[in-house]
Amino acid sequence: MPLTQTMPNAPQLQRVKDQVAFVTGAGSGIGRAAAIKLAQEGAKVCLADLKENRAGDVLKQIESFGGQAIVADIDVSDPTRMEAGIRQTFEQWNRLDIVFANAGINGTWTPIENMAEQDWDNTLATNLKGTFLAVKYAIPHMKQNGGSIIVTSSINGSRKFSGFGASAYSVSKAGQVAFAKMAALELARYKIRVNVICPGAIETNIGENTKKTPELKQIEIPVQYPQGSQPLEHKAGMPEQVADLVLFLASGESSHISGAEIVIDGAESLL
Ligand code: NAD
Repeated sequence: MPLTQTMPNAPQLQRVKDQVAFVTGAGSGIGRAAAIKLAQEGAKVCLADLKENRAGDVLKQIESFGGQAIVADIDVSDPTRMEAGIRQTFEQWNRLDIVFANAGINGTWTPIENMAEQDWDNTLATNLKGTFLAVKYAIPHMKQNGGSIIVTSSINGSRKFSGFGASAYSVSKAGQVAFAKMAALELARYKIRVNVICPGAIETNIGENTKKTPELKQIEIPVQYPQGSQPLEHKAGMPEQVADLVLFLASGESSHISGAEIVIDGAESLL
């Protein structure tokens, strides 16, 4: 399904005015919506993604309403490129206040006995190691002034374990929750807040990075909901709804919140 267009009008009240944000996976879905939202609210945003062309489109959109952004061509699992992307952001604007460690893939969904070691490693390297690297290389630039780090985990790995075949994905998402809480405690001394968000189904392009194997049929257990799947809105969430949460966690409105794990799923995972 096509992504909804974000309204390009910048609101009057700018909650992250003049702050600098580094957003991974900014070319699509949740990262794209959050990058646009942060820019609308006055932040200068580095759009970090593997797919530079899509990040380039987001750049144009941000510039169309007078926002400021740059693109960093990175692979979150590659320490050299991650470090370079964060340095590029700091050199451009001389500060770093917000990190949205969001890039992720569903990867290969298959029974554990069929899971290739390489497929396991790919998912963990992108989702979990990528989060660690973003935080690691951001710390030296954030230590001085403090800031906010937001990590995108998932209900898969914290509340829901019926995504059959998604063992690598769920483990990576569970790991992100633990990592964010460890980081929240460790980085509190620098006034760096760290929070982790757990979306349910959100309408994005994540299907492009999902490989389901035929063997899945062997392990699936039918899960039947009474009606629909999301009790609150009876549909998947939109990336812009997640972006509102990211903005809140990035802004001073959440100044006393760190180490929190926030589910955003229209009550889907309570079923
Ligand atoms: P998406 O595919 O629309 O966007 C993900 C972006 O990350 C893409 O632009 C992709 O190019 C980028 N990316 C992937 N691997 C990368 C890498 N190695 N280096 C740099 N960039 C990379 O998907 P999305 O749904 O917006 O996913 C964002 C995050 O949200 C992911 O961590 C995902 O696990 C999480 N999430 C999504 C859903 C959902 O239903 N869509 C639910 C829960 C959690």
